[in-house]
Amino acid sequence: MTGKNIVILGGGIGGIVAANELRKKLPKNIKITLIEKNSTHSFAASYLWLMVDQRKADKITAPLNTLVSEGVDIIYEEAKSIDISSKLIQTENQKIDYDYLIIAAGAKLESKFLNMLDQDIHNFFTFEGARKLRDKLNQIESGEIVLLIEAMPYKCPGAPYEAAMLIADHIAKRGFNESVKVSLYTPEPQPLPVAGPELGNSVSQILESKNVRLYTDHQLTEVSERDKRIIFQNGAEQKYDLLIVVPKHVPPEVIGNSGLADESNWVPVDKNSLRTNAENVYAIGDVTSITIPGKWKPGKPMKLPKAGVFAHSQALTVSDIIASEILGKESKEIFCGDGFCMLEAGEDLAGFAYGDFFGEPNPKVKMKKLGKLWHLGKVLFEKWWLAPIGFTKSFYRMVLILGGKLLGIPIKL
Ligand SMILES: Cc1cc2nc3c(=O)[nH]c(=O)nc-3n(C[C@H](O)[C@H](O)[C@H](O)COP(=O)(O)OP(=O)(O)OC[C@H]3O[C@@H](n4cnc5c(N)ncnc54)[C@H](O)[C@@H]3O)c2cc1C
Repeated sequence: MTGKNIVILGGGIGGIVAANELRKKLPKNIKITLIEKNSTHSFAASYLWLMVDQRKADKITAPLNTLVSEGVDIIYEEAKSIDISSKLIQTENQKIDYDYLIIAAGAKLESKFLNMLDQDIHNFFTFEGARKLRDKLNQIESGEIVLLIEAMPYKCPGAPYEAAMLIADHIAKRGFNESVKVSLYTPEPQPLPVAGPELGNSVSQILESKNVRLYTDHQLTEVSERDKRIIFQNGAEQKYDLLIVVPKHVPPEVIGNSGLADESNWVPVDKNSLRTNAENVYAIGDVTSITIPGKWKPGKPMKLPKAGVFAHSQALTVSDIIASEILGKESKEIFCGDGFCMLEAGEDLAGFAYGDFFGEPNPKVKMKKLGKLWHLGKVLFEKWWLAPIGFTKSFYRMVLILGGKLLGIPIKL
Protein backbone atom coordinates (compact mmCIF):
# COMPACT_ATOMS: atom_id res chain seq x y z
CA MET A 1 0.00 0.00 0.00
CA THR A 2 2.93 2.39 0.50
CA GLY A 3 4.43 4.58 -2.16
CA LYS A 4 1.26 5.04 -4.17
CA ASN A 5 0.90 8.32 -5.98
CA ILE A 6 -2.50 9.50 -7.10
CA VAL A 7 -2.51 12.46 -9.46
CA ILE A 8 -5.60 14.42 -10.40
CA LEU A 9 -5.29 16.61 -13.46
CA GLY A 10 -7.69 19.55 -13.19
CA GLY A 11 -9.00 21.18 -10.03
CA GLY A 12 -12.53 22.11 -11.09
CA ILE A 13 -15.71 20.40 -9.91
CA GLY A 14 -14.63 16.80 -10.56
CA GLY A 15 -11.01 17.28 -9.47
CA ILE A 16 -11.88 18.99 -6.16
CA VAL A 17 -14.42 16.31 -5.24
CA ALA A 18 -12.02 13.49 -6.17
CA ALA A 19 -9.12 15.02 -4.20
CA ASN A 20 -11.21 15.50 -1.04
CA GLU A 21 -12.87 12.12 -1.26
CA LEU A 22 -9.60 10.27 -1.77
CA ARG A 23 -7.97 12.14 1.11
CA LYS A 24 -10.90 11.13 3.32
CA LYS A 25 -10.65 7.48 2.34
CA LEU A 26 -6.89 6.91 2.28
CA PRO A 27 -4.13 7.07 4.88
CA LYS A 28 -1.55 9.86 4.79
CA ASN A 29 1.19 7.71 3.22
CA ILE A 30 -0.76 7.69 -0.05
CA LYS A 31 0.19 10.84 -1.88
CA ILE A 32 -2.57 12.83 -3.56
CA THR A 33 -1.56 15.58 -5.97
CA LEU A 34 -3.88 18.01 -7.70
CA ILE A 35 -2.57 19.83 -10.77
CA GLU A 36 -4.51 23.01 -11.54
CA LYS A 37 -3.46 26.05 -13.52
CA ASN A 38 -5.71 28.54 -11.68
CA SER A 39 -5.32 29.34 -7.99
CA THR A 40 -8.81 30.88 -7.82
CA HIS A 41 -11.85 28.70 -8.37
CA SER A 42 -15.04 30.26 -9.74
CA PHE A 43 -18.37 28.47 -9.54
CA ALA A 44 -19.68 28.33 -13.11
CA ALA A 45 -23.35 27.76 -12.23
CA SER A 46 -23.33 31.20 -10.59
CA TYR A 47 -22.16 32.98 -13.76
CA LEU A 48 -25.85 33.12 -14.67
CA TRP A 49 -26.61 35.18 -11.56
CA LEU A 50 -23.49 37.30 -12.01
CA MET A 51 -24.60 38.11 -15.55
CA VAL A 52 -27.94 39.57 -14.37
CA ASP A 53 -26.43 41.39 -11.38
CA GLN A 54 -27.80 38.99 -8.78
CA ARG A 55 -24.32 38.15 -7.48
CA LYS A 56 -21.22 40.20 -6.83
CA ALA A 57 -18.19 38.81 -8.65
CA ASP A 58 -16.24 38.19 -5.43
CA LYS A 59 -19.09 36.11 -3.99
CA ILE A 60 -18.79 33.35 -6.57
CA THR A 61 -15.08 32.66 -6.31
CA ALA A 62 -12.83 31.14 -3.68
CA PRO A 63 -9.11 30.41 -3.41
CA LEU A 64 -8.73 26.82 -4.56
CA ASN A 65 -6.78 25.79 -1.47
CA THR A 66 -9.73 26.68 0.81
CA LEU A 67 -11.88 24.11 -1.02
CA VAL A 68 -9.35 21.31 -0.91
CA SER A 69 -8.62 19.16 2.14
CA GLU A 70 -5.36 19.35 4.03
CA GLY A 71 -2.96 16.67 2.89
CA VAL A 72 -3.62 17.19 -0.83
CA ASP A 73 -0.62 18.72 -2.63
CA ILE A 74 -1.73 21.34 -5.09
CA ILE A 75 0.57 22.14 -7.98
CA TYR A 76 -0.47 25.42 -9.59
CA GLU A 77 0.85 24.76 -13.04
CA GLU A 78 -0.48 23.90 -16.45
CA ALA A 79 -0.02 20.26 -17.43
CA LYS A 80 1.48 20.14 -20.91
CA SER A 81 1.35 16.44 -21.74
CA ILE A 82 0.41 13.01 -20.43
CA ASP A 83 2.67 10.05 -21.11
CA ILE A 84 0.63 6.94 -20.38
CA SER A 85 3.45 4.50 -21.13
CA SER A 86 5.85 6.05 -18.57
CA LYS A 87 2.99 7.17 -16.27
CA LEU A 88 4.22 10.76 -16.25
CA ILE A 89 2.65 14.19 -16.48
CA GLN A 90 4.81 16.97 -17.84
CA THR A 91 3.86 20.37 -16.43
CA GLU A 92 5.40 23.76 -17.20
CA ASN A 93 8.27 23.11 -14.77
CA GLN A 94 8.36 19.48 -13.70
CA LYS A 95 7.64 15.84 -14.42
CA ILE A 96 5.13 14.22 -12.08
CA ASP A 97 4.78 10.46 -11.94
CA TYR A 98 1.61 8.63 -10.98
CA ASP A 99 0.37 5.18 -10.07
CA TYR A 100 -3.21 6.31 -10.62
CA LEU A 101 -4.30 9.24 -12.73
CA ILE A 102 -7.70 10.93 -12.76
CA ILE A 103 -8.18 13.31 -15.66
CA ALA A 104 -10.66 16.04 -14.74
CA ALA A 105 -9.47 18.73 -17.12
CA GLY A 106 -12.92 19.83 -18.29
CA ALA A 107 -13.73 21.40 -21.64
CA LYS A 108 -12.07 24.40 -23.25
CA LEU A 109 -13.95 27.16 -25.05
CA GLU A 110 -12.85 27.90 -28.57
CA SER A 111 -11.66 31.47 -28.55
CA LYS A 112 -13.15 32.81 -31.79
CA PHE A 113 -16.04 34.65 -30.11
CA LEU A 114 -14.42 35.23 -26.74
CA ASN A 115 -12.63 38.49 -27.53
CA MET A 116 -15.16 40.43 -29.53
CA LEU A 117 -16.69 42.65 -26.88
CA ASP A 118 -16.04 45.76 -28.95
CA GLN A 119 -18.21 44.16 -31.65
CA ASP A 120 -21.02 43.55 -29.14
CA ILE A 121 -20.36 39.81 -29.02
CA HIS A 122 -20.42 38.55 -25.44
CA ASN A 123 -20.64 35.29 -23.51
CA PHE A 124 -21.49 34.10 -20.01
CA PHE A 125 -19.51 30.85 -20.11
CA THR A 126 -16.46 32.41 -18.47
CA PHE A 127 -16.21 34.41 -15.25
CA GLU A 128 -14.88 37.48 -17.08
CA GLY A 129 -17.43 37.02 -19.86
CA ALA A 130 -20.34 36.99 -17.40
CA ARG A 131 -18.99 40.07 -15.60
CA LYS A 132 -18.66 42.10 -18.80
CA LEU A 133 -22.04 40.92 -20.04
CA ARG A 134 -23.58 42.17 -16.79
CA ASP A 135 -22.34 45.69 -17.55
CA LYS A 136 -23.76 45.47 -21.06
CA LEU A 137 -27.13 44.15 -19.88
CA ASN A 138 -27.32 47.00 -17.38
CA GLN A 139 -26.92 49.53 -20.21
CA ILE A 140 -29.00 48.19 -23.08
CA GLU A 141 -32.29 50.04 -23.60
CA SER A 142 -33.41 48.90 -27.05
CA GLY A 143 -32.65 46.45 -29.83
CA GLU A 144 -32.23 42.75 -30.42
CA ILE A 145 -30.49 40.51 -27.90
CA VAL A 146 -29.70 37.19 -29.55
CA LEU A 147 -28.44 34.13 -27.69
CA LEU A 148 -26.71 31.71 -30.01
CA ILE A 149 -25.57 28.15 -29.37
CA GLU A 150 -22.65 27.82 -31.74
CA ALA A 151 -22.13 24.06 -31.71
CA MET A 152 -22.79 20.82 -29.87
CA PRO A 153 -21.77 19.59 -27.36
CA TYR A 154 -21.72 22.35 -24.75
CA LYS A 155 -21.69 22.15 -20.98
CA CYS A 156 -24.83 22.35 -18.92
CA PRO A 157 -27.66 21.72 -21.40
CA GLY A 158 -29.98 23.98 -19.42
CA ALA A 159 -27.65 27.00 -19.18
CA PRO A 160 -28.56 28.85 -22.42
CA TYR A 161 -32.27 28.45 -21.68
CA GLU A 162 -31.83 29.62 -18.10
CA ALA A 163 -29.80 32.55 -19.40
CA ALA A 164 -32.54 33.57 -21.83
CA MET A 165 -35.16 33.49 -19.07
CA LEU A 166 -33.00 35.43 -16.62
CA ILE A 167 -32.08 38.03 -19.23
CA ALA A 168 -35.72 38.53 -20.25
CA ASP A 169 -36.64 39.11 -16.59
CA HIS A 170 -33.69 41.40 -16.01
CA ILE A 171 -34.63 43.56 -18.99
CA ALA A 172 -38.27 43.63 -17.87
CA LYS A 173 -37.22 44.65 -14.36
CA ARG A 174 -35.24 47.52 -15.86
CA GLY A 175 -38.40 48.54 -17.74
CA PHE A 176 -37.20 47.91 -21.30
CA ASN A 177 -39.15 44.79 -22.26
CA GLU A 178 -41.09 46.72 -24.94
CA SER A 179 -37.98 48.03 -26.68
CA VAL A 180 -35.61 45.07 -26.19
CA LYS A 181 -36.36 41.76 -27.92
CA VAL A 182 -34.74 38.51 -26.78
CA SER A 183 -34.33 35.43 -28.97
CA LEU A 184 -32.42 32.16 -28.72
CA TYR A 185 -31.07 30.13 -31.65
CA THR A 186 -29.96 26.53 -31.26
CA PRO A 187 -28.98 23.63 -33.53
CA GLU A 188 -31.01 21.38 -31.19
CA PRO A 189 -34.51 20.24 -32.23
CA GLN A 190 -35.87 21.28 -28.81
CA PRO A 191 -34.54 22.59 -25.49
CA LEU A 192 -32.59 19.89 -23.62
CA PRO A 193 -33.17 17.06 -26.12
CA VAL A 194 -31.49 14.68 -23.66
CA ALA A 195 -34.43 15.18 -21.31
CA GLY A 196 -37.15 14.24 -23.81
CA PRO A 197 -40.05 16.11 -25.46
CA GLU A 198 -42.14 16.71 -22.34
CA LEU A 199 -39.43 18.65 -20.56
CA GLY A 200 -38.49 20.42 -23.80
CA ASN A 201 -42.11 21.60 -24.16
CA SER A 202 -42.21 22.88 -20.59
CA VAL A 203 -39.06 24.93 -21.18
CA SER A 204 -40.40 26.25 -24.53
CA GLN A 205 -43.59 27.36 -22.80
CA ILE A 206 -41.73 29.21 -20.06
CA LEU A 207 -39.63 30.95 -22.71
CA GLU A 208 -42.77 31.93 -24.60
CA SER A 209 -44.36 33.31 -21.42
CA LYS A 210 -41.36 35.62 -21.11
CA ASN A 211 -41.57 36.66 -24.78
CA VAL A 212 -38.31 34.92 -25.64
CA ARG A 213 -38.46 33.77 -29.27
CA LEU A 214 -36.97 30.29 -29.64
CA TYR A 215 -35.56 29.06 -32.97
CA THR A 216 -34.62 25.38 -32.93
CA ASP A 217 -32.77 23.46 -35.69
CA HIS A 218 -30.68 26.54 -36.53
CA GLN A 219 -27.03 25.67 -37.09
CA LEU A 220 -24.72 28.65 -37.41
CA THR A 221 -22.95 29.27 -40.70
CA GLU A 222 -21.35 32.59 -39.93
CA VAL A 223 -21.55 35.80 -37.96
CA SER A 224 -21.01 38.93 -40.00
CA GLU A 225 -19.69 41.42 -37.44
CA ARG A 226 -19.63 44.21 -40.02
CA ASP A 227 -23.41 44.43 -40.33
CA LYS A 228 -24.23 42.53 -37.10
CA ARG A 229 -25.95 39.68 -38.87
CA ILE A 230 -26.08 35.93 -38.17
CA ILE A 231 -26.46 33.53 -41.07
CA PHE A 232 -27.68 29.97 -40.53
CA GLN A 233 -27.27 26.81 -42.58
CA ASN A 234 -31.01 26.72 -43.37
CA GLY A 235 -30.75 30.15 -45.02
CA ALA A 236 -32.31 32.09 -42.13
CA GLU A 237 -30.72 35.34 -41.02
CA GLN A 238 -30.99 37.39 -37.84
CA LYS A 239 -29.77 40.88 -37.00
CA TYR A 240 -28.48 41.59 -33.52
CA ASP A 241 -27.51 44.52 -31.35
CA LEU A 242 -26.07 42.29 -28.65
CA LEU A 243 -25.00 38.75 -29.51
CA ILE A 244 -24.46 36.32 -26.63
CA VAL A 245 -22.66 33.22 -27.81
CA VAL A 246 -22.40 29.82 -26.18
CA PRO A 247 -18.97 29.19 -27.72
CA LYS A 248 -17.88 25.95 -29.31
CA HIS A 249 -16.38 23.57 -26.73
CA VAL A 250 -13.21 21.62 -27.45
CA PRO A 251 -11.13 19.22 -25.34
CA PRO A 252 -8.20 20.75 -23.43
CA GLU A 253 -4.88 20.65 -25.33
CA VAL A 254 -3.25 18.34 -22.80
CA ILE A 255 -5.39 15.46 -24.08
CA GLY A 256 -3.92 16.08 -27.55
CA ASN A 257 -1.26 13.41 -28.12
CA SER A 258 -1.95 11.40 -24.99
CA GLY A 259 -3.51 8.51 -26.93
CA LEU A 260 -6.55 8.72 -24.67
CA ALA A 261 -8.96 10.48 -27.04
CA ASP A 262 -11.23 8.98 -29.67
CA GLU A 263 -12.01 10.44 -33.10
CA SER A 264 -14.16 13.14 -31.46
CA ASN A 265 -11.03 14.19 -29.49
CA TRP A 266 -12.85 13.70 -26.17
CA VAL A 267 -11.88 10.84 -23.84
CA PRO A 268 -14.01 7.72 -24.07
CA VAL A 269 -14.46 5.84 -20.79
CA ASP A 270 -16.30 2.84 -19.49
CA LYS A 271 -19.62 4.41 -18.54
CA ASN A 272 -19.86 2.71 -15.12
CA SER A 273 -16.24 2.73 -13.92
CA LEU A 274 -14.88 5.76 -15.85
CA ARG A 275 -11.78 3.74 -16.81
CA THR A 276 -9.98 4.89 -19.95
CA ASN A 277 -8.08 2.65 -22.34
CA ALA A 278 -4.84 3.18 -20.33
CA GLU A 279 -3.84 1.29 -17.20
CA ASN A 280 -4.89 3.04 -13.96
CA VAL A 281 -6.07 6.12 -15.84
CA TYR A 282 -9.61 7.37 -15.24
CA ALA A 283 -11.38 10.36 -16.73
CA ILE A 284 -14.35 12.21 -15.28
CA GLY A 285 -16.57 15.16 -16.10
CA ASP A 286 -16.63 17.35 -19.18
CA VAL A 287 -13.50 15.87 -20.76
CA THR A 288 -15.21 12.50 -21.26
CA SER A 289 -17.37 11.22 -24.06
CA ILE A 290 -20.07 8.80 -22.89
CA THR A 291 -22.65 7.61 -25.37
CA ILE A 292 -26.08 7.07 -23.85
CA PRO A 293 -29.27 5.59 -25.35
CA GLY A 294 -31.17 7.65 -27.91
CA LYS A 295 -30.40 10.19 -30.61
CA TRP A 296 -30.55 13.97 -30.16
CA LYS A 297 -31.16 14.27 -33.91
CA PRO A 298 -31.50 11.56 -36.57
CA GLY A 299 -28.07 9.92 -36.90
CA LYS A 300 -26.62 11.85 -33.93
CA PRO A 301 -26.06 9.59 -30.90
CA MET A 302 -26.95 11.09 -27.56
CA LYS A 303 -24.05 11.84 -25.20
CA LEU A 304 -24.13 12.20 -21.44
CA PRO A 305 -24.41 15.97 -20.85
CA LYS A 306 -21.34 17.82 -19.71
CA ALA A 307 -22.52 18.92 -16.28
CA GLY A 308 -21.10 19.49 -12.84
CA VAL A 309 -23.55 17.08 -11.31
CA PHE A 310 -22.04 14.24 -13.34
CA ALA A 311 -18.43 15.35 -12.81
CA HIS A 312 -19.24 15.28 -9.09
CA SER A 313 -20.80 11.83 -8.91
CA GLN A 314 -18.21 10.35 -11.25
CA ALA A 315 -15.51 11.71 -8.93
CA LEU A 316 -17.15 9.91 -6.01
CA THR A 317 -17.28 6.66 -7.98
CA VAL A 318 -13.68 6.79 -9.19
CA SER A 319 -12.40 7.74 -5.74
CA ASP A 320 -14.11 4.73 -4.27
CA ILE A 321 -12.76 2.40 -6.96
CA ILE A 322 -9.17 3.63 -6.56
CA ALA A 323 -9.24 3.77 -2.74
CA SER A 324 -10.73 0.28 -2.54
CA GLU A 325 -8.11 -1.12 -4.88
CA ILE A 326 -5.29 0.44 -2.84
CA LEU A 327 -6.82 -0.79 0.42
CA GLY A 328 -7.37 -4.29 -1.00
CA LYS A 329 -11.15 -4.07 -0.73
CA GLU A 330 -13.88 -4.60 -3.26
CA SER A 331 -15.66 -1.48 -4.54
CA LYS A 332 -19.36 -1.78 -5.23
CA GLU A 333 -19.58 1.79 -6.57
CA ILE A 334 -20.63 2.33 -10.14
CA PHE A 335 -21.65 5.49 -11.94
CA CYS A 336 -25.26 4.73 -12.87
CA GLY A 337 -26.15 7.83 -14.89
CA ASP A 338 -28.52 9.40 -12.35
CA GLY A 339 -28.46 13.18 -12.35
CA PHE A 340 -30.41 16.31 -11.56
CA CYS A 341 -30.43 19.97 -12.39
CA MET A 342 -32.12 23.02 -10.92
CA LEU A 343 -33.23 25.05 -13.92
CA GLU A 344 -33.34 28.76 -13.07
CA ALA A 345 -36.39 30.43 -14.59
CA GLY A 346 -36.08 33.95 -13.17
CA GLU A 347 -38.11 35.65 -10.43
CA ASP A 348 -36.40 33.37 -7.88
CA LEU A 349 -38.13 30.34 -9.36
CA ALA A 350 -36.52 27.19 -10.65
CA GLY A 351 -37.59 23.85 -12.10
CA PHE A 352 -36.05 20.60 -10.96
CA ALA A 353 -35.13 18.06 -13.65
CA TYR A 354 -33.97 14.66 -12.50
CA GLY A 355 -33.73 11.12 -13.76
CA ASP A 356 -31.78 8.22 -15.17
CA PHE A 357 -29.65 9.35 -18.12
CA PHE A 358 -28.70 5.73 -18.91
CA GLY A 359 -32.41 4.79 -19.16
CA GLU A 360 -33.44 2.58 -22.09
CA PRO A 361 -34.49 3.16 -24.85
CA ASN A 362 -34.15 6.86 -23.97
CA PRO A 363 -32.99 8.73 -20.86
CA LYS A 364 -35.83 8.99 -18.36
CA VAL A 365 -35.86 12.57 -17.10
CA LYS A 366 -38.73 14.38 -15.41
CA MET A 367 -39.21 17.98 -14.36
CA LYS A 368 -40.96 19.12 -11.21
CA LYS A 369 -43.16 22.23 -11.35
CA LEU A 370 -41.42 25.59 -11.02
CA GLY A 371 -41.04 26.63 -7.42
CA LYS A 372 -39.03 28.74 -5.01
CA LEU A 373 -37.80 25.62 -3.24
CA TRP A 374 -35.67 24.48 -6.20
CA HIS A 375 -34.19 27.96 -6.49
CA LEU A 376 -33.34 27.89 -2.78
CA GLY A 377 -31.79 24.45 -3.27
CA LYS A 378 -29.50 25.90 -5.94
CA VAL A 379 -28.55 28.82 -3.69
CA LEU A 380 -27.78 26.43 -0.84
CA PHE A 381 -25.70 24.24 -3.14
CA GLU A 382 -23.70 27.32 -4.20
CA LYS A 383 -23.12 28.25 -0.56
CA TRP A 384 -21.99 24.72 0.29
CA TRP A 385 -19.68 24.51 -2.70
CA LEU A 386 -17.92 27.82 -2.10
CA ALA A 387 -17.62 27.58 1.71
CA PRO A 388 -14.10 26.81 2.92
CA ILE A 389 -13.54 23.33 4.32
CA GLY A 390 -14.76 23.45 7.91
CA PHE A 391 -17.84 23.74 10.08
CA THR A 392 -19.99 25.95 7.80
CA LYS A 393 -19.40 23.69 4.83
CA SER A 394 -20.33 20.62 6.86
CA PHE A 395 -23.48 22.41 8.05
CA TYR A 396 -24.63 23.26 4.48
CA ARG A 397 -23.86 19.70 3.44
CA MET A 398 -26.06 18.31 6.18
CA VAL A 399 -28.92 20.67 5.26
CA LEU A 400 -28.69 19.66 1.59
CA ILE A 401 -28.67 15.95 2.39
CA LEU A 402 -31.54 16.26 4.87
CA GLY A 403 -33.53 18.42 2.47
CA GLY A 404 -32.97 15.85 -0.26
CA LYS A 405 -34.15 13.07 2.05
CA LEU A 406 -37.33 14.98 2.94
CA LEU A 407 -38.07 15.45 -0.76
CA GLY A 408 -37.17 11.85 -1.66
CA ILE A 409 -34.11 12.88 -3.67
CA PRO A 410 -30.98 10.90 -2.79
CA ILE A 411 -28.22 13.54 -2.74
CA LYS A 412 -24.63 12.30 -2.57
CA LEU A 413 -22.13 15.02 -1.74
C1 LIG B 1 -22.82 29.20 -17.15
C2 LIG B 1 -22.72 27.79 -16.69
C3 LIG B 1 -23.70 27.26 -15.84
C4 LIG B 1 -23.60 25.95 -15.41
N1 LIG B 1 -24.59 25.46 -14.58
C5 LIG B 1 -24.52 24.18 -14.17
C6 LIG B 1 -25.52 23.64 -13.32
O1 LIG B 1 -26.46 24.34 -12.90
N2 LIG B 1 -25.43 22.33 -12.98
C7 LIG B 1 -24.42 21.54 -13.43
O2 LIG B 1 -24.40 20.35 -13.10
N3 LIG B 1 -23.45 22.02 -14.25
C8 LIG B 1 -23.47 23.32 -14.61
N4 LIG B 1 -22.48 23.82 -15.42
C9 LIG B 1 -21.46 22.92 -15.96
C10 LIG B 1 -20.35 22.65 -14.97
O3 LIG B 1 -19.75 23.85 -14.53
C11 LIG B 1 -19.29 21.77 -15.63
O4 LIG B 1 -19.92 20.70 -16.25
C12 LIG B 1 -18.32 21.26 -14.57
O5 LIG B 1 -17.56 22.34 -14.09
C13 LIG B 1 -17.43 20.17 -15.14
O6 LIG B 1 -16.52 19.76 -14.16
P1 LIG B 1 -15.08 19.22 -14.60
O7 LIG B 1 -14.37 18.91 -13.35
O8 LIG B 1 -15.22 18.20 -15.64
O9 LIG B 1 -14.41 20.48 -15.31
P2 LIG B 1 -14.12 21.92 -14.74
O10 LIG B 1 -14.94 22.22 -13.56
O11 LIG B 1 -14.22 22.85 -15.91
O12 LIG B 1 -12.61 21.85 -14.26
C14 LIG B 1 -11.57 21.60 -15.15
C15 LIG B 1 -10.32 22.21 -14.50
O13 LIG B 1 -9.17 21.72 -15.16
C16 LIG B 1 -8.25 22.77 -15.26
N5 LIG B 1 -7.34 22.44 -16.36
C17 LIG B 1 -7.66 22.17 -17.66
N6 LIG B 1 -6.56 21.85 -18.34
C18 LIG B 1 -5.54 21.93 -17.48
C19 LIG B 1 -4.14 21.72 -17.62
N7 LIG B 1 -3.59 21.37 -18.79
N8 LIG B 1 -3.34 21.89 -16.53
C20 LIG B 1 -3.87 22.26 -15.33
N9 LIG B 1 -5.19 22.48 -15.15
C21 LIG B 1 -6.01 22.30 -16.22
C22 LIG B 1 -9.10 24.00 -15.53
O14 LIG B 1 -8.42 25.20 -15.18
C23 LIG B 1 -10.30 23.72 -14.63
O15 LIG B 1 -10.15 24.30 -13.35
C24 LIG B 1 -22.52 25.14 -15.83
C25 LIG B 1 -21.52 25.68 -16.66
C26 LIG B 1 -21.61 26.99 -17.06
C27 LIG B 1 -20.54 27.56 -17.93
